[in-house]
Amino acid sequence: MASSSPDQANASSLAGRLEMVRARIARACRAAGRAPDEVVLTAVTKTQPPEAIDAILAAGQRVFGENRVQEAQGRWKGRCAIPGLELRLIGPLQTNKAADAVALFDVIETLDRPRLADALAAAAAKAGKPLRLLVQVNTGAEPQKAGVLPEDVDALIVHARSLGLTVEGLMCIPPAGAAPDSHFALLGEIARRNGLKVLSMGMSGDYETAIGLGATHVRVGSALFGERNTPQTPSMD
Ligand SMILES: *Cc1c(COP(=O)(O)O)cnc(C)c1O
Repeated sequence: MASSSPDQANASSLAGRLEMVRARIARACRAAGRAPDEVVLTAVTKTQPPEAIDAILAAGQRVFGENRVQEAQGRWKGRCAIPGLELRLIGPLQTNKAADAVALFDVIETLDRPRLADALAAAAAKAGKPLRLLVQVNTGAEPQKAGVLPEDVDALIVHARSLGLTVEGLMCIPPAGAAPDSHFALLGEIARRNGLKVLSMGMSGDYETAIGLGATHVRVGSALFGERNTPQTPSMD
């Protein structure tokens, strides 16, 4: 399909929106002097019905983000054999769900406390499965938000590594309603000083900004599937 301008893509279909988001990612990469394949699109499928999952799989998307373990099990357990499928946990994780999370997910983006690192290390050892982790940083130091405080990140990474865990990078969710730029920049700074390459940052409203500030993974939900609180359109191609 010709798509010289991202905005010409058919925004009324899921495949069209996926094409549009991909084109915008590529454009943001070019603007930042980066190669488009440096940025991975994580499609956030929380709350989506099976028809939407079928449609986005048919359109070729393979990397997905979910924020609840049990909900994700229901959506993905029957689809785990799909070649190239990568599931990433992007929501808070309780230690008593560590084993379930390790069993289902390829990457857990929300390591944020030493006790959870302990539980994940034990679960990964028991499952005999190498675990890929990101540390979630509460860049805005919001009391209600998950994530380790910026001043405690370095120590948590040291702790995780001492358990033999592989920390690939960092993830953040900037405070709602604030300009995200300084939060994305802070995440990049923390990654650099810890020798980390992966930066999961940027959502539907700000993924192009995040790419300009070094995101390697952008987590996009509503720009692909529509707003979660409004009813889904009945037919998704
Ligand atoms: C829901 C969610 C997203 C996607 O948000 P949109 O604004 O719909 O793109 C990204 N990251 C996390 C952690 C989420 O929970």
